Amino acid sequence: MGKLFGTNGIRGVVNQDMNTDLALGIGKAWGTFLKKSIKRPKVAIGTDARLSNHMLKNAISAGLMATGCDVVDVGLVPTPTLQYTVRSKGFDSGVIITASHNPPQFNGIKGVASDGTEFSKEIENKIEKIYFEKNYKLVDWENVGNFSQWDGAIDLYINGILNTVDVNLIKSKNFHVVLDCGNGAGGLVAPILLEKLGCKPTLLFCKPDGRFPGHNSEPIPENLTEIISKVPVLKADLGVVQDGDADRAIFIDENGIFIGGEKTLALVAKYATKQNGGIAVTPVTSSSCFDEVVQKNNGKVIHTAVGSPIVARVMIENNAVIGGEANGGLIFPEFQYCRDSAMSIAKILEIMAKENKSLGQLINEIPKYELYTTKMSCPNDKKELVMKTLAEKTKKDSSVLEVDETDGVKLYLDGGWVLMRPSGTEPIFRVYAESKDKNKAEEMASTYKSITEEIIKNS
Ligand code: MG
Repeated sequence: MGKLFGTNGIRGVVNQDMNTDLALGIGKAWGTFLKKSIKRPKVAIGTDARLSNHMLKNAISAGLMATGCDVVDVGLVPTPTLQYTVRSKGFDSGVIITASHNPPQFNGIKGVASDGTEFSKEIENKIEKIYFEKNYKLVDWENVGNFSQWDGAIDLYINGILNTVDVNLIKSKNFHVVLDCGNGAGGLVAPILLEKLGCKPTLLFCKPDGRFPGHNSEPIPENLTEIISKVPVLKADLGVVQDGDADRAIFIDENGIFIGGEKTLALVAKYATKQNGGIAVTPVTSSSCFDEVVQKNNGKVIHTAVGSPIVARVMIENNAVIGGEANGGLIFPEFQYCRDSAMSIAKILEIMAKENKSLGQLINEIPKYELYTTKMSCPNDKKELVMKTLAEKTKKDSSVLEVDETDGVKLYLDGGWVLMRPSGTEPIFRVYAESKDKNKAEEMASTYKSITEEIIKNS
């Protein structure tokens, strides 16, 4: 059986591997899956700003209706807006048409469960199986689904955020925020949210445009030269950038310093655990600055496998107070169990207001670690055996304090950790090494890269 869903739903180039036949088939498979447990499923569908959105939305909606699902189109919305709508309006499922930060020729399909979380691997596998076996259950003419539109999702979502943070406190600070929506879906939410939070917004690329005329949609420093230079010149309090579907946010401090997502994650974790500790969840790849701030507040860290649906699921199971990924995907359980950039903006402003400190000062208080990454080739069919051998060998290694096999093989050593993790898509192993000392990080990476290469050679 083939594979459709990757780490972030189904992605592909429009009218090549991401086409109407695929979307129609997925719609029929999705509907067939939902109908197994629900008599008349109600599905919300939304899109980001890409030019192929209507094409794919109509195809997938047709498949859902053919299998007896009612489809409600909520229009162009950020992914977390769709997720919030699904949960709070009692939908049985949600579909978001987006390729997140990928270049404009891409598009994708991502599934949302009734609780607003991203589809788990189990659900994706079930839909995939129906799709490949073409085991669609089309309904009689009189049971075909309805199609309607609802334009209340954005108001519902913004009000939800405003009810979760201390609006009056944020308003009292009159923050000047430079906002870069990268011409993505966030442009329909974040400018309004900032206004309602009493901020003075300076807007860059906030008009949704699926050609991404402003800059490439991935929020990495080389794409963000304009906002990085503007924040200090305008004497703004901070800058914030959203990715194409506005589930991730990256921040720039008042001096125009790009803040790595791992530091923002640690900052929100520090404040979420400040009063009563609590459980904080992040993948094994995340920086130890997260662990350090949480443990200092008598909180407990759970490391998961990589993937935001996994982080969200573990957060629900453990009643966590905070979670997220180091790529700017922060999850606030008091609002919803998914990555949410607009909520991240509101929360960062709230922390700045409460602590009465600039963003640069708050980030300076986060412990500093040095991450070193490298990679090596490894044939896909050897990966499992290599990991097993690596774990066995390193468990006997006296310099290894602890071996974590949650995702790849992570070794805790004196002064840092090193993680060897196979790529899910490419024939490579990635090596991550982190320490407070840069040389130590490099040394650990090179030592364990050699050990892993030797194992690959002999496997
Ligand atoms: Mg995204």
